[in-house]
Amino acid sequence: MTQEIETTPEVGNFSTLGLHPSVLAAITAVGYEEPSPIQTQSIPLIMAGHDMIGQAQTGTGKTAAFALPILSRIDANRREAQVLVLAPTRELALQVATAFESFAAQMPSVNVVAIYGGAPMGPQLKAIRNGAQVIVATPGRLVDHLSRNGGLLSTIKFLVLDEADEMLKLGFMDDLEVIFNAMPDDRQTVLFSATLPASIRGIAEKHLRQPQQVKIASKTQTVARIDQAHLMVHADQKVNAILRLLEVEDFDAMIGFVRTKQATLDIAAALEAKGYKVAALNGDIAQNQRERVIDSLKDGRLNIVIATDVAARGLDVPRITHVFNIDMPYDPESYVHRIGRTGRAGRDGRALLLVTPRERRMLQVIERVTGQKVAEILLPDAKVILQARIRRLTQDLTPRVKDKENQNIELLTHLTTELNCSVEELALGLLAKTTEGQAFTLAGVEREQPVMTARSRDDRAQRGSRDGGGRSEGGRGEGRSESRGDRGDRGEGGRERRAPLALSEGKVRCRTALGVRDGVAARNLLGAILNEGGLSREAIGRIQIRESFSLVELPEEGLESLLGKLKDTRVAGKALKLRRYRED
Ligand code: ADP
Ligand code: MG
Repeated sequence: MTQEIETTPEVGNFSTLGLHPSVLAAITAVGYEEPSPIQTQSIPLIMAGHDMIGQAQTGTGKTAAFALPILSRIDANRREAQVLVLAPTRELALQVATAFESFAAQMPSVNVVAIYGGAPMGPQLKAIRNGAQVIVATPGRLVDHLSRNGGLLSTIKFLVLDEADEMLKLGFMDDLEVIFNAMPDDRQTVLFSATLPASIRGIAEKHLRQPQQVKIASKTQTVARIDQAHLMVHADQKVNAILRLLEVEDFDAMIGFVRTKQATLDIAAALEAKGYKVAALNGDIAQNQRERVIDSLKDGRLNIVIATDVAARGLDVPRITHVFNIDMPYDPESYVHRIGRTGRAGRDGRALLLVTPRERRMLQVIERVTGQKVAEILLPDAKVILQARIRRLTQDLTPRVKDKENQNIELLTHLTTELNCSVEELALGLLAKTTEGQAFTLAGVEREQPVMTARSRDDRAQRGSRDGGGRSEGGRGEGRSESRGDRGDRGEGGRERRAPLALSEGKVRCRTALGVRDGVAARNLLGAILNEGGLSREAIGRIQIRESFSLVELPEEGLESLLGKLKDTRVAGKALKLRRYRED
């Protein structure tokens, strides 16, 4: 395979790592702007053919660290199994498979198959036989396949042990031995793990050849005195959480950090729809436009900027009171760097951090490295939001009601006469006008705010995921449970890029009678559903806009309540009336 190394400016320093041009193109499409630290260190080693051991926390980008170089090195023209990735649970295997698919989006002849328990073996075997080059498997089920087809792995060139410590915890040691023995010795092996207990070092000694070691270790960091808080939230509830936090946080200017370009756009759009003065800042934005955004943030024409780390580099705006870590930074250094944007010039600063369940460990690392506690806050409920709204309105009115020089005295007399109403009635009318679009009763705020059950649901899902990954009777039970662990974090961006008609897992298609002729564009639909439904961008699948109707993929779970919330939603001035769509 030819290894042309092209410089593609849009993918930042990904382009200096020697990756295949098709892989670089896919990274651009997925919206990654720069490699994370584990990626920067691992990719050149894997490209050079070394075995390696990579140690880094959850959420640091390990999947791309191995998937990108391996995809760059496989022989796409050979239709046989070349890559085997082992993952501890069905959920993780599916995540990795989805990631591979999105990174291979520009390599049409590359196919990926996921092998896990709880699904029929026939189709899985068929996919391997048909020449899928990448197999992502849980060990138990793979051993089942091997017991019937011993030669299944005879063409493997690359083996990845992902989350090796988890696999051992789940009791897959013996299965791993069986799998090692079923593979050619001259393969390249890489092992990724959050921790490296003796058992893992033992495996590495026995089955890896002079492995290079990559460790993302963190030095102690000094942090300015910034008030820090975190909120636990499920990934698909982030937009809802942001909207609620913004209501109660008293900020002057804010910078919100996310990982991808798409996220800068989606979140800025959701906030703009709520009336915030906000702009997105990412690597695609031209230098002069970028300067305009920063100037606007400086002088108050904008109050919020949603940025990737790359785009925010060098941004120094003294007005910033709040740094919002919407997506977790890759390491504590980057966290410290981000939050250093506030608290400038001796002012008070506040840093907020959203943490999804699988990122808990990273939170602990941040706390350890900075030597500071990041206090947990809870999602503001309707009562707190209502209080904040009333407080803001009161602040707004205070100087005006005491204003003896108020120029509207004559207008008041005129209006009460003209409308034949009391001053109280007039005041109520004016209040209705100033509060338009915002509820000022408890019931009203509750209706606006989607119910958040993320925390309890996640705790359950996490447990389910682990149980599902371990052995049940018969020994090959991984993933038999219907758990949804980790799914919300599967943000690889690959799901929209699946085969055109295949619905994403757990999604159903819904239809509205609004289409192009009603002046509806995908972004209007998206904005409406994000805001009124309180969903995150990842929760919404493909949107198809046709002349006289549109289709949107929405999560099946909670669909009824979502459609209820969207009952009165209007898009482009017309009632949305979204309904579940059944094709027959
Ligand atoms: P890990 O395996 O270390 O837990 P993942 O590979 O699952 O981490 O990545 C965590 C998240 O970070 C995913 O949503 C992924 O899409 C995103 N991500 C990974 N690398 C990058 C990057 N270079 N730029 C932006 N987002 C990234
Ligand atoms: Mg991982």
